[in-house]
Amino acid sequence: MEEIHAGHPDHKLMSKIYKKPYTCDGCKESGIGSRHRCECEDCDYDLHKHCMFYKTTTSHDFFPNSAFKFLLYPPGQDKRWCDGCGKPVRGFVYHCEEKGWDLHPCCMNLPNKLKVDNVKFKLHDKVLKKCFWCKRRRLEGSVSGIRGWSYVSKCDKYHFHVNCSSEMMLQGWKNESYSNNDYNDQTASDSLALALENLELPIQGRSRGNGGGSSSDKFIRIVKMFFKVFVGILLGDPFTITLTCLVAELIR
Ligand SMILES: [Zn+2]
Ligand SMILES: [Zn+2]
Ligand SMILES: [Zn+2]
Ligand SMILES: [Zn+2]
Repeated sequence: MEEIHAGHPDHKLMSKIYKKPYTCDGCKESGIGSRHRCECEDCDYDLHKHCMFYKTTTSHDFFPNSAFKFLLYPPGQDKRWCDGCGKPVRGFVYHCEEKGWDLHPCCMNLPNKLKVDNVKFKLHDKVLKKCFWCKRRRLEGSVSGIRGWSYVSKCDKYHFHVNCSSEMMLQGWKNESYSNNDYNDQTASDSLALALENLELPIQGRSRGNGGGSSSDKFIRIVKMFFKVFVGILLGDPFTITLTCLVAELIR
């Protein structure tokens, strides 16, 4: 399956899977696993799935009656930040002209409501309790003043900054050994599955702190499941989503 993208109009891009993380040449944010890559050796051009298959105009449930336009470059001269993750906007962006909102293509894909097992999550633009990952309410180093979204559970037990959740994804991959070989085959999917399964999430301490028992087991299980669902949606990786379902089955 080859496709042409307006951001790289001279060459066709191919869907590939590599284990190695990459920086998307569209939105300039990180990615892992599947990507759309230029076949020319010299180009080294990769795109997220969400950056490859964009919508010219769209909206997000978090911003009722919003109209976002897809742009290849951030509008204007001023520095801009994503209202989803709070990180800078440096490339492809969905921009709402009327309100001045910006969302990375991957962040645009994060749903307003999410259900993991039986726990219901909703996007909030502030965290009233500490984020599970960074143990803070405010996003650290948020010079922009934009806090970015958090997923907060209806039961109020789980709080995750979107920004921290995507950072976790990259940290978990840091200790993996990478290969530059073309991994566009079943082995790649298998090794990627293993890598995702072995991600070192900082949740062991929490488990002990709770004194063990079934409630803390459930807590850890939901954290892990949330994380996997989140990564799958953020990167639009059907393989990851398949894995997530599989993991969910195994845990029950
Ligand atoms: Zn991208
Ligand atoms: Zn190219
Ligand atoms: Zn973002
Ligand atoms: Zn956080």
